[in-house]
Amino acid sequence: MNMEIKIKFWGARGSFPSPREDTVRYGGHTSCVEIRSSDNDLVILDMGTGMIDLGRSMASESNPPTSAHAIISHYHWDHLFGFLGFNPLYNPDFTFNMYGKEDKMEPQEIIQYIQNHTFWPVDMSMLEANINLNDFPDHGLVIDDNISIQSSLHGHPNGANSYRINMHGKTIAYSTDCEHPVDKLNKNVIENARNSDILIHDAQYHSHELSKFRGWGHSSWEQAIEVAKLSNTKKLILFHHDPFRTDDELDEIQENAKKLFPDAIVAKQGMEIIL
Ligand SMILES: [Zn+2]
Ligand SMILES: [Zn+2]
Repeated sequence: MNMEIKIKFWGARGSFPSPREDTVRYGGHTSCVEIRSSDNDLVILDMGTGMIDLGRSMASESNPPTSAHAIISHYHWDHLFGFLGFNPLYNPDFTFNMYGKEDKMEPQEIIQYIQNHTFWPVDMSMLEANINLNDFPDHGLVIDDNISIQSSLHGHPNGANSYRINMHGKTIAYSTDCEHPVDKLNKNVIENARNSDILIHDAQYHSHELSKFRGWGHSSWEQAIEVAKLSNTKKLILFHHDPFRTDDELDEIQENAKKLFPDAIVAKQGMEIIL
């Protein structure tokens, strides 16, 4: 039997949640992507506010996964806040394995920090799941015979990791919160996506906005297309939208992106892709 891989976008927005009338169609939740195989392996990319809805949806499944591997590009709030509202963490039969970009703070310190009672009512001692918090290993992560993940560092304030996920023979590349060097593209990001089935890439800005936002740590959708072409990826997902970008503006980006790379899709909250 051919294993199917489902990729679902629970949050496609960058920086902070943006639920407004003019963001209803593309959604306001911040970055969270579910990768699920048809035999229920679950890998989660980033823990933005979209992860709260993923947890809620898992509770309504007849046969939900009993464990997850969450891979974190970096610990900025828009990639982290969903941890606080992820319901499976209250289930004693659930195992949550988190792997984040190496930081000056230990992963346990970071998660305890956001649960400090000054900021949040619930702390670690009230979560009942089996929770393992780790740095992403330098040499890569082998989850089992069918799932392995590699990382490489790219430019962002305090740095962020790109990931290359191999799952049942398919390759998913993920590069978000990525600022390319001025007038060139980061070679690591291109290599990370080399010949992948799908590339999910930061597309926060238009190219004409890049000079104004130098140092904020993001790409333009045009740069994402260049990376897709140079890496020979099959499908490109434009991701991590600016929180002020409206639905109509994202429609326009979709139209223009398709002219340059026919298999480019602007990520929408709730969108599913089957590989
Ligand atoms: Zn971000
Ligand atoms: Zn960031």
